[in-house]
Order: sequence, then structure tokens, then C-alpha cells
Amino acid sequence: MGITLKYSRRATHEVCFAGVKVGGDNPISVQSMTNTPTADVERTVAQVVSIANEGADIVRLTAQGKREGEALQPIMESLRGQGVSTAIVADIHFTPEIAMMAAEVVDKVRINPGNFRTTNGELSRLIEICRRRGVALRIGVNHGSLAKRIFDEYGDTPEGMVASAMEFLRMCREEQFDNVVVSMKSSNTRVMVHAYRLLVEAMEREGMTYPLHLGVTEAGDGIEGRIKSAVGIGALLADGIGDTLRVSLTEDPENEVPVGRMIVDYIAGREGEFEVKSLERYSPTSFCARTSAKPIIHSEITPQYRVLEAHSSNPTHEWRAEILNSDDNAPVVLRRRYDDSDKERVAIYSAMDMGQLLIDGLAEGVWVDAPALSEEEIKDIELMLLQASRLRFSRTEYIACPSCGRTLYDIQATLAQIKARTSHLKDLKIGVMGCIVNGPGEMADADYGYVGSSPEHITLYRGREVVERNIHQSEAIDHLIDIIKRDGRWHEPFTRYYGV
Ligand code: SF4
Repeated sequence: MGITLKYSRRATHEVCFAGVKVGGDNPISVQSMTNTPTADVERTVAQVVSIANEGADIVRLTAQGKREGEALQPIMESLRGQGVSTAIVADIHFTPEIAMMAAEVVDKVRINPGNFRTTNGELSRLIEICRRRGVALRIGVNHGSLAKRIFDEYGDTPEGMVASAMEFLRMCREEQFDNVVVSMKSSNTRVMVHAYRLLVEAMEREGMTYPLHLGVTEAGDGIEGRIKSAVGIGALLADGIGDTLRVSLTEDPENEVPVGRMIVDYIAGREGEFEVKSLERYSPTSFCARTSAKPIIHSEITPQYRVLEAHSSNPTHEWRAEILNSDDNAPVVLRRRYDDSDKERVAIYSAMDMGQLLIDGLAEGVWVDAPALSEEEIKDIELMLLQASRLRFSRTEYIACPSCGRTLYDIQATLAQIKARTSHLKDLKIGVMGCIVNGPGEMADADYGYVGSSPEHITLYRGREVVERNIHQSEAIDHLIDIIKRDGRWHEPFTRYYGV
């Protein structure tokens, strides 16, 4: 029997808090997160106002300890006193008491099932407060911080993430509390997409319709961070999955909002229906490459590859139907024309159009046909598309956290310095993380880690092993490079010689 592919949102129930409605027929909302120390009320309020002025619907603050938890009340009073009605979320990692303190003041509380105790009735008490005050909850699972017992049973897999989320969702359902949003973030786009799709399947089996918050963690900065986010978020939105989103960038948080809006607006413009004879040759929840051909960019095309050009406003489904309906097993290059002279927009749109097919192993090449961009810019975007989809690594992969109130050093400047010295090491993944509490877990499968361990001090990792502890940041990049050299994984950048 044939199947019709078209863009339509998955049915979810509505979750309401502070005048924001997430899920149901409501537009996809856009959020960001402050990176000021939350205990610094004045700076945090100023940053929330600035993010809200960029058009964010929801702003999240970290509340990692008692001081930060106590700062939430004056922050809320100051914001509401100034007439700022943007919904405020407190991000809790470890302490149920802080979650309860936060639920008494903010509009939504995010807890991480990986480190939130489920015994002793803490969740019931938290839900009781949320119910009384009309506060929403987010069950925010992170690939890098699963509970030990889940990790021991499933490893750090999408299945483990789903088990972790479902455990909490079932508890919420038992308590008849539906004001809940759920997320399944990872810095690995393939893990992230598969985890959300598996979660949707699991929820459907149990008749759950919780709305979903989308995000790729530690996406990094610049065009790279935008492409990585748009590949992961775009792949899910094309499926109709996603009711609210955050683009996490290692930049000023205000920068995240216009990128989020661009993604939301672009997906809303998808029209057209495409018939597929059968979905048999494709699995949405495990990676299976259609061919063994090398993933390529347009300048590398050989006659072996078949170029598929999409013309509709829904290229993802147009390509998918064409690939799945065809008996031609040649590797496929996705080609689409973008009449735009803005590199950022072309990067985000092409990532949203092509990312899903690349993540699903249905295509082997990309051709971003953008006459207004230079050949160098196009090549850059195309290589980043393949890297963000984890098909081909052509440059160092940076797993950089977006920073928050816990960040212990100037992460934006440091990331730029680390990139300037290491970006030629194409087989390496380097984690650049703001704090030791979550950084080591969330830098996932990085080969090396640069992690803030106390103010202006850094701990360096090789994989998950600590190599140097708490060294001053002024020496930390040199030490990182020394470790890479000692491991035999360093080479000097290629130098161009001009003249004689
Ligand atoms: S890793 Fe980065 S974003 Fe995550 S809690 Fe630490 S400083 Fe904040």
C-alpha cells in the first residue's frame, strides 16, 4: 500500500505556562538560555530582557545550587516589575530541593532524569507544587548524563535515553499530571534524531501525546553550529516532530533566537505531497547506508553518482519519495538551488532540506547550488553538511557547550583560540566545556576535553580519563596540544608558500 509523505505536525496535547502554549496547534516556540551567573540578579535580568527583545518565547536559567535557587525570586520580581512576561524556566540538575524551590517561583522547571532522584517521593512533591501553581515540567534527557543503572543496562544509546524518559513520563501519568514537555538531546545528530523517533514510537505505544522540545547539544559556534543544529532539528521537524526548540550556540544567547526563528519559518513553508510505494527499504531508528559509496560534495561528482534535483518547497519529502520509489541503486547526490546571497541562510536551509536524507543513509552527496556564494563558501557548507550528518569528517569536530551560569571561563574566546590552533586535525573530536559538573558527561565521545574545573582553571581529558587537573587557563591550550602531540595525533598545518 502506498504512503503519502507531506509535512504535518505530530498530534500532541497542549502544555501551558506563563501565557505560552506548547504543543497542540500552537506555533513552534523558540527558546534560549542565559549564560550569566544566575546568582548575579542584575546581570541575569538584563540578559533575559535582551534575549526576550530578540523575540524568544521562553528563557531558561540554570539553578544549580541554593544561591542560584534563591536568586530566582528577585529575578522574577524584577522581570515582572518591568513588564517582561516571557516564560522563565529553571534548569535543575541534581537537587530535588532546588527544583521545588524553583517551582514555587518560575513558570517551568527542567529536570534531568539522569541525576534526579526518583525515590522518596521527590517527583510527586515537585508535581504537586507545579500543579498548584500552573507550572510546567520538562523531562530533559541528555545523551551524556544517563543514570548509572540505565547506562549499565543500555549503554549510552538512544534506547537508554528512551527508557530514562519513559520512566519519568509514566510517573507523571500516574500522578495525572500532563503539563509536561520532553527532550532527548545529544551532540551527535544521528543519536539525537534516532532517540526522538524511538521516543515517539514508545509514547504512541502507550497512548502518550507529550509535546517535544528539540535541540542539538554542544553544537559549537558560527556556521558549523548552525548547520549541526539545523541538520538535527530539521530532520525531526520534517517528520512533524517538535513543538518547541532551542538552537544551542557557543555565542551570545541572543544569537540563538533568530536562528531558531529561521528554522521555524522555513519548515512552515513546506508544501506538497509525495507518494511512496513502500517504506520497506528504510529504518527511521537505526543508521543503514543505502550504498557503500564515498560521501561527496559537488566538485567531486563522478558518473557513478546520480544527481537528484528538488524543485518543490518540500525537498526532503520530494527526494525521499524519488529515492525510495526508484529501482536505480546508484549513489545519490542531492542538488538544490538557493537564490540567496546570505551564507548563513543558505547553510541553514540546505541543512534542513538535506540533513534528514543524510542522517538516514539515503543519500551520498550534496550539491548546494548557490550562485550568489563563492565556490569556497559552497564547499565549506557542503563539507559541514556531511560532517554534521556524521558521514564524512573533513575537519576537527568541536563539541562545545553553549555556556550557562555555571561556565568557569570565557568559553567563546577560548573556543576561537582552540579552533585557530587545532582545526586542521581532521580526525579529532575536541570537547570544550564550561564546567566540570556536566561537561565531562556531555562531551560524549570527544577524543580530548578542555573542561572548566574552577574559576579560570581547566582540567584536560583524554577520552574520559583526566590527564591534567586544574591548570591555569593561560597554559591550558598549550598543554592540550602537548597531550595531542605526545599521543602522536598532531601534525603541523599545511602552509602555502607564495612567491619564490
Ligand atoms: S557544560 Fe556548559 S552549558 Fe552545560 S552546565 Fe556546564 S557550563 Fe553550563
